[in-house]
Amino acid sequence: MSTLVPILPESAPFTAEQRAWLNGYLAGLFSRGTLDPAVAGRAAAVPAAAALKPLTILFGSQTGTAESLAKKAAKEAGKRGFAATAIDLAGYTVARLAQEKNVLLITSTFGEGEPPDNAKPFHAALATPDAPKLAGVCFSVCGLGDTNYVQFCQCAKDFDARLEKLGAGRVSPRVDCDLDYENKFTAWLDAALTALSATTAPAAPVAAPAENSKSKIEVPSPPADPTYSKKNPFPAPLLVSRNLNAPGSTKQVHHVEFSLEGSGLSYEAGDALGVFAQNCPDLVASVLGALGCDGEEAVPAPDGSIVPLRRALTEFYDLGGPSSDLLAACSVNLGGGTAVALHHVVDVILARPELKLAPADFVRALRKLQPRLYSIASAPKAHPGAVHLTVGALRYEKDGRGRKGVCSTFLSDRAVPGQARIGVFVHSNKAFRLPANADTPVIMIGPGTGIAPFRAFLEERRATGAKGKNWLFFGDQHAASDFLYRDELAALQHDGVLTHLDTAFSRDQPEKIYVQHRMLDHATEIFAWLEQGAHVYVCGDASRMAKDVDAALHQIVERAGNKSAPDAVAYVQDLRTAKRYARDVY
Ligand code: NDP
Repeated sequence: MSTLVPILPESAPFTAEQRAWLNGYLAGLFSRGTLDPAVAGRAAAVPAAAALKPLTILFGSQTGTAESLAKKAAKEAGKRGFAATAIDLAGYTVARLAQEKNVLLITSTFGEGEPPDNAKPFHAALATPDAPKLAGVCFSVCGLGDTNYVQFCQCAKDFDARLEKLGAGRVSPRVDCDLDYENKFTAWLDAALTALSATTAPAAPVAAPAENSKSKIEVPSPPADPTYSKKNPFPAPLLVSRNLNAPGSTKQVHHVEFSLEGSGLSYEAGDALGVFAQNCPDLVASVLGALGCDGEEAVPAPDGSIVPLRRALTEFYDLGGPSSDLLAACSVNLGGGTAVALHHVVDVILARPELKLAPADFVRALRKLQPRLYSIASAPKAHPGAVHLTVGALRYEKDGRGRKGVCSTFLSDRAVPGQARIGVFVHSNKAFRLPANADTPVIMIGPGTGIAPFRAFLEERRATGAKGKNWLFFGDQHAASDFLYRDELAALQHDGVLTHLDTAFSRDQPEKIYVQHRMLDHATEIFAWLEQGAHVYVCGDASRMAKDVDAALHQIVERAGNKSAPDAVAYVQDLRTAKRYARDVY
């Protein structure tokens, strides 16, 4: 008897590579007779022994990290006898949560303690007084955050507390991970899965995934990461680092190009690139001076190998904000009215010179230097074997000391094109993708370095001949000196790829003009595009710009759509849920 092997359609929510792999996986299952084609017609792989413990792994993700960890967790859980499903919190409901048995929730925190965009409605719904009781739910929460922020992992803390309050049973404690999340995440997952395995709740048969429910389709993860990853970065030759500003600018934004030839790394427009930078030699010298060391002292690197102190401080340890370990080692109590502002490692050592920390103890109290993520500015189809970034050099004065962004000034000032090889990896951001339908219009709002992913989107749409309309809002201080990629944008307009370009140069006139003012000028047309199904993307400054642009979008829907304020909120929320309003903001 011949068996028809199902093939995932091109519209399935996977990359071509993933689809190819999954099709192979399905074919393999069929050849072993483990999959009933009737079931497969509705969904993907359901193991034959269908009495696995169900496990729902929810993720709240802004830049894709929580999403990729949720998928890793699903894979690991699958190996341990769970029927695990990673589910995006966008569109997930509290009513559905009340039906679950076993839940892991992995979430980042965004801005000042807020949930990531995809988790906002769920977070709000769970907080309402009429949220359902969750007595039958076993759970554990993992938070992703950055200890430099006061509201560290706040969203995870909120979920953890609320789930408990609603009667769900915490099977293992919440873990809050710093930027260096790998080990803590792995330990949390192990503890949570072990605890869930031990719960006595009866193993439910694996329910057939609901029709049309993409997020419920249980899929095995594609093959392991390519050889090069965050753990094993590719030493990418730096090809170009070119200042995009003209003389007279107060900004220093660099166009940076790396070669990915021979790395096997691939990316899509919308992804980010992780870059391992080195600390500034002047900063390293001032730390060595404060410690009274010459830099030759042998100290442990984070991987346990022994290296000279200077190299350790240059390549491996964070000399920015002090860790709580360092503050403890120096017996510095920040809450106790410390006279000196201790914003940097060097401030802490200088505050306690009498301690004379041993170099090895000192580095053990430091955080690992973390890679920086930059939105990719190129489309792979337009630049095969290369990846481009748009990097704004960060320099500022604090407490009478000049400070510099570690990676941005490394790339713009010190790394030499043609000579430097710099560790990089691709950080996938599936939440920031061009519409699957090439005819769908897109509206892109990207002032300053926020233009980066939109250069990639426009290159991608040109390379694929996509017919959809494209509208870009760009802004910066002065047209004469800060109009990033001006010529390229003009060429894209000339080619008919960039349908509309609106600019807001904030300091070319007495009053400030920002991108959101330009948007409001075009409220009627923007609303018409939204009604035609346009996707809206925002990239750039999170603290002011993204909030004001969000407010402008609501105003546009109110005014041009003739809606009440609550209806406009619901309209914009629907855009988010439909993944038509995505933000890559920092
Ligand atoms: P900016 O966002 O600072 O400036 C771009 C334009 O936006 C300017 O014309 C600016 O005007 C304008 N602007 C200021 N406030 C608003 C607002 N509320 N709404 C809309 N537009 C506004 O661009 P950059 O590319 O310099 O920086 C982007 C972000 O990236 C910033 O948050 C910056 O701090 C951050 N950054 C981070 C780096 C890092 O290493 N982590 C490196 C470089 C930048 P005006 O200035 O005249 O008010």
